[in-house]
Amino acid sequence: MQNQDDKLKKIISHCKEYGFVFPSSEIYDGLSATYDYGPYGSELKNNLREYWWKAMTRLHENIVGIDASIFMHPTTWKASGHVDAFNDPLIDNKDSKRRYRADVLLEEYIGKLEAKNNKEVEKAKSKFGDAFDETKFRATNPNVLRNSEKIASVEQRMKQALENSDLAGLKQLIEDCEIADPETGSRNWTEVRQFNLMFSTELGSVAGDAATIYLRPETAQGIFVNFLNVQKSGRMKIPFGIAQTGKAFRNEIIARQFIFRMREFEQMEMQFFVKPGTELEWYAYWKEARIKWHMSLGMNSDNYRFHDHLKLAHYANAACDIEFNFPMGFKELEGIHSRTDFDLGAHEKFSGKKLRYFDPESNESYVPYVIETSIGLARMFLATLSSAYDEEKLEDGSERTVLRIPPALAPVKVAVLPLVNKDGLPEKAREIVKMLQLDFNLQYDAKDAIGRRYRRQDAIGTPYCITIDNDTMTDESVTLRERDSMKQERVRIEKLREIVGQRVSMHTLLQQLV
Ligand code: ATP
Repeated sequence: MQNQDDKLKKIISHCKEYGFVFPSSEIYDGLSATYDYGPYGSELKNNLREYWWKAMTRLHENIVGIDASIFMHPTTWKASGHVDAFNDPLIDNKDSKRRYRADVLLEEYIGKLEAKNNKEVEKAKSKFGDAFDETKFRATNPNVLRNSEKIASVEQRMKQALENSDLAGLKQLIEDCEIADPETGSRNWTEVRQFNLMFSTELGSVAGDAATIYLRPETAQGIFVNFLNVQKSGRMKIPFGIAQTGKAFRNEIIARQFIFRMREFEQMEMQFFVKPGTELEWYAYWKEARIKWHMSLGMNSDNYRFHDHLKLAHYANAACDIEFNFPMGFKELEGIHSRTDFDLGAHEKFSGKKLRYFDPESNESYVPYVIETSIGLARMFLATLSSAYDEEKLEDGSERTVLRIPPALAPVKVAVLPLVNKDGLPEKAREIVKMLQLDFNLQYDAKDAIGRRYRRQDAIGTPYCITIDNDTMTDESVTLRERDSMKQERVRIEKLREIVGQRVSMHTLLQQLV
């Protein structure tokens, strides 16, 4: 595929055409940064959620799940810091009336300088061939050096301004870099202002009686406030974890790039409670465990990388992202954070309730430290589709679009296809559907030529097609076609459940993790 931008566009239109993702309330022209999952999309999403959930709760006897409410007591968000500090610095362009995140404008500016440097390097590489020494070139070429110095200085000033909440400093930096509105080129900017990302609403129907409450911007706080409930009711011993999946809401300003950044999205989070002093060992453990989970899906290890946070949040003592090579480039897919006792400590302070663990072995009680793993379900969905989407040229010169989704995650596992719609073949096919439908999500399709039916299944990522032909009526065998290789084998009907089951079962994924 030529161009990455192009690839994202193709994925978006494929998602719409085949019922994976639709723009929300599309008949009213949609609502920005909100999307609906269609029939195949909701299956894929369920499978991703299930794989995460099982990897957490089944494979770790010390991890249990909960399902907390979206609404929480408003003080929760005071304690967590979201009321005071969950802000984005925004700037408006007075001419175009468009609004931007000041830090994103600066990051894009830095990105452009980096791209210029990369271009210089590419140019020199093709000029000097094998003799080219990139490190030396970057350290000596005047253009590259000038850009690198500029990048370092902008990064330094931006970091300082963000850390000190110096909004005037951010504005000055935007002016010094002569950054213009990306859409219109205008440099007529307002001041930079802070904008809270939480959606608020009111509890209670009587005016005056109403209290402002928030739609949760992360699921984690539902876990923290239930820490003691879970520990006590489950008689959990430290170290232990609590897992949760559910909706979170953020009034994102820059909500572009399809389902990568939405205003309503689902998170899969796990908080692992440990003894203070052991947190960095557990942080390393969870980094490894989570990358192993990703690798088990076989979506090309080159598509993943760790990005360690240089600037840590005030409560964290280590943090990194697992980044994925999306069509828009490497971006955050999952965060792993060592959050110390910040959250439980803050909830103790604000609630006046003790949130401590009594350690029967050492006879002491303490506020546990926490390692968090947090992944966006939609981002995982997009990562899966970006790696799965393929336009393949076939030997006969034709082309097919195929989603090479890991079989255990595929929305439909098997398609049952009578070769022709007569001679008792549909009835035989229906028997097979009946036999397999409790084990697999399957689809019966008798319309159009068999080749077209195979293409339709390729396009939604179905790993196996079962074709019933005239021989089936006498030999009780069918043709089993595999999606990626398009290889066909003859298989006895009584063996189908076992053969397909082994290949599409989530066990095969989970087994790689034990
Ligand atoms: P970003 O830097 O991209 O805004 P974040 O650092 O704010 O992300 P976290 O607060 O760490 O994200 O949230 C954990 C995970 O939730 C992220 O790794 C991402 O997968 C997902 N996520 C966060 N914001 C969104 C969003 N607006 N839409 C979809 N997924 C999101």
